[in-house]
Amino acid sequence: MDYLDLKQQLLDKIKANGGWVNAHAHFDRAFTITKENFHLGAIDFQKKWALNQKIITESTTEQIYDRMALATERMIEQGVYAVGTFIDVNPGVKDRSIKAAEKIREKYKGDIIIKYINQTLQGVIEKQAHEWFEVGADFVDIIGGLPSKDAGHESEHLDIILAAAKKRNKMIHVHVDQLNDPTEHETELLTDKTIEHGMQGKVVAIHSISVAAQPKEYRTALYKKMKAAGVMVVANPTAYIDDGRKEIMVPSHNSATPVDEMVPEGIIVALGTDNIADLHKPFTDGDMWIELRVLLEACRFQDVNELVKIATVNGRKVLGIE
Ligand SMILES: [Zn+2]
Repeated sequence: MDYLDLKQQLLDKIKANGGWVNAHAHFDRAFTITKENFHLGAIDFQKKWALNQKIITESTTEQIYDRMALATERMIEQGVYAVGTFIDVNPGVKDRSIKAAEKIREKYKGDIIIKYINQTLQGVIEKQAHEWFEVGADFVDIIGGLPSKDAGHESEHLDIILAAAKKRNKMIHVHVDQLNDPTEHETELLTDKTIEHGMQGKVVAIHSISVAAQPKEYRTALYKKMKAAGVMVVANPTAYIDDGRKEIMVPSHNSATPVDEMVPEGIIVALGTDNIADLHKPFTDGDMWIELRVLLEACRFQDVNELVKIATVNGRKVLGIE
């Protein structure tokens, strides 16, 4: 009997289908973990946002460029065809990530397709934050969002970024339902807002993990609505598989984007590394195979052809390449 080497089979098929697509990352803050800050990894999620903001705010354009270059080269080494990376644009870092991003695109233009997306770590509502959001929106290929940074005003946050994307005829990537917590309903809100703004087929939900913590009836109805609105999803498997223990009762599941349910419902799901070697994910090294492996294990999703699509063509779709 011949042993079926499934890893090799997947890698071969991924190559034959155009190569990996890393559909979600934050290259400008990759490799910011140091001997001095590693111990801060234990603090909570929201506090890490503030620390990350401090690191980025204190970075020079050259430091940001070096980090982005290292991350980009790590992608090229693995045969990544295209990457979608967020870059911070806000009153702290101002346009330094934009300047670094321009140089990166020029340097690697023959080697990899890079789509930039603006991270809104200070929200989009406060006056100065909004001004920098508009600067970022003009520069990037895809408009980015993080509604939980405008907590209590998530709808307004989505209205602002959807209108900005529509005005510029750009797609939109939004961090939603990240905490594996049933009190979050951001994917649903994003889907409703997609329909309200007439942005069907142009909206991508990043994470949507908390959907897995909802009752089956809710999930099924949401998938139908997402499919109808053409809302796509990016799963970043290692980014939140380490969700901490909680004393809440939810349907049993792993802390992962429920690809095993979304794909059969016809929802386009792509794959991303998210944070690489920073305060959020000090051990993540940007290895695409590890991300795909964790995704298939976390959801027990073993459909080889669909896994290949998740790693390749679906990534091109969420980045607007095809
Ligand atoms: Zn992210």
